[in-house]
Amino acid sequence: MIYQDNLQFALQLDEQDALRSFRSEFLIPKHNGEDAVYLCGNSLGLQPRSAKKYIQDQLNAWETNAVEGWFTGDEPWLNYHKQLLPALSNLLGAKQTEITVMNSLTVNLHLLMVSFYKPTGKRYKILMEAGAFPSDQYAVESQVRFHGFDPNGAVIEVAPRAGETTLRTEDILKQITDNADELALVLFSGINYYTGQFFDLEAIARAGHAAGAMVGFDLAHAAGNVPLKLHDWGADFACWCSYKYMNSGPGGISGIFVHEKHFTDTSLNRFAGWWGYRRDKQFLMAPGFEPENGAEGWNVSTSPIILMALHRASLDIFERAGGLQALRAKSELLTGYLEYLISEVNKKHGEEVYHIITPADNSRRGCQLSVVCKRKAKEIFNYLAQNGVIGDWREPDVIRLSPVPLYNSYVDVYRASESLFRAI
Ligand SMILES: *Cc1c(COP(=O)(O)O)cnc(C)c1O
Repeated sequence: MIYQDNLQFALQLDEQDALRSFRSEFLIPKHNGEDAVYLCGNSLGLQPRSAKKYIQDQLNAWETNAVEGWFTGDEPWLNYHKQLLPALSNLLGAKQTEITVMNSLTVNLHLLMVSFYKPTGKRYKILMEAGAFPSDQYAVESQVRFHGFDPNGAVIEVAPRAGETTLRTEDILKQITDNADELALVLFSGINYYTGQFFDLEAIARAGHAAGAMVGFDLAHAAGNVPLKLHDWGADFACWCSYKYMNSGPGGISGIFVHEKHFTDTSLNRFAGWWGYRRDKQFLMAPGFEPENGAEGWNVSTSPIILMALHRASLDIFERAGGLQALRAKSELLTGYLEYLISEVNKKHGEEVYHIITPADNSRRGCQLSVVCKRKAKEIFNYLAQNGVIGDWREPDVIRLSPVPLYNSYVDVYRASESLFRAI
């Protein structure tokens, strides 16, 4: 698309946007009585208007049915999670049996590493991206220690080349191949939280398997943002959170993917709990753990129904919007428009004040642009906040801006660029 740097053009794009009505299904925070420009869905997605009703329904069910709510009512709690699976299967590119919702993200990363990080002999190393989200680094380091290894030798981090900020796929693949004999696990994020780079997960999975390693993905910044094909790519496992692009509330419930090729593998360790027990026998309360078939067998504890209700409020909107296919088309245009406007701001100032480190290639990024401010970065960020443009700040000089196709408009993006221009 040939973009234009004026409000008229932004208004026109909004008018032509088939998804524009979904914005009104979300509660947009206010700034001086007007809608703020909220570009922070990478950190916390906005609240669906319907969230209160979805929760209220379950409070009502609890009031009316009390403990019987597990088995009776319109949506018996025992099967409540199943209503989340069609939408998640679309967003993750997985069979419904390969997905379950449970716990929170870092907890799930640990539980999945219990199953899929199986160091043996000299094959004990984990390969991951340098600069992964800190929680993932801590999880990996502590898992490695738990198995008696030193993270300094057991964790291989793939770093960008000197003078570069994102990773080259060829470098990732080469490091996998070079370390093939020693790798137990290749663990990558789908999208790096800092740079916004969307990794070539298919290629990473293929290389990891060719090396004889397990391959897992943390999709916190990818789920609900970019198209994923976990099943076809053959990933062994994945996990994600629901409170970023999936708008399911602060600390919302997480989800996991386990590829069906592992369903019958009884050699996998798991930290079991009764909620992963065979559904048909769960309430016999018998000794000896027998897992439910599929990802559900990784559940540990009783379903948190209120968190699931919040998750469902948002996933139902994704379904009505036509799933990720429809959203992705708009997302590319919206983020492309922000990228274009930032380059116009630089032109008007006659210098590159704002340097985008996120890949320019649409297929290698999602909603987010990570913008390095070459001077007065913190002041610029504060100026944006004072003017109702909500992004987020990452040390030392990066502002992350993420227009989200479900609730952001082209005018939002235009307003953000006006503030970026005036901030200087
Ligand atoms: C957001 C995020 C987390 C946060 O984990 P929680 O357990 O939900 O606090 C972890 N890893 C990545 C990659 C993230 O982006």
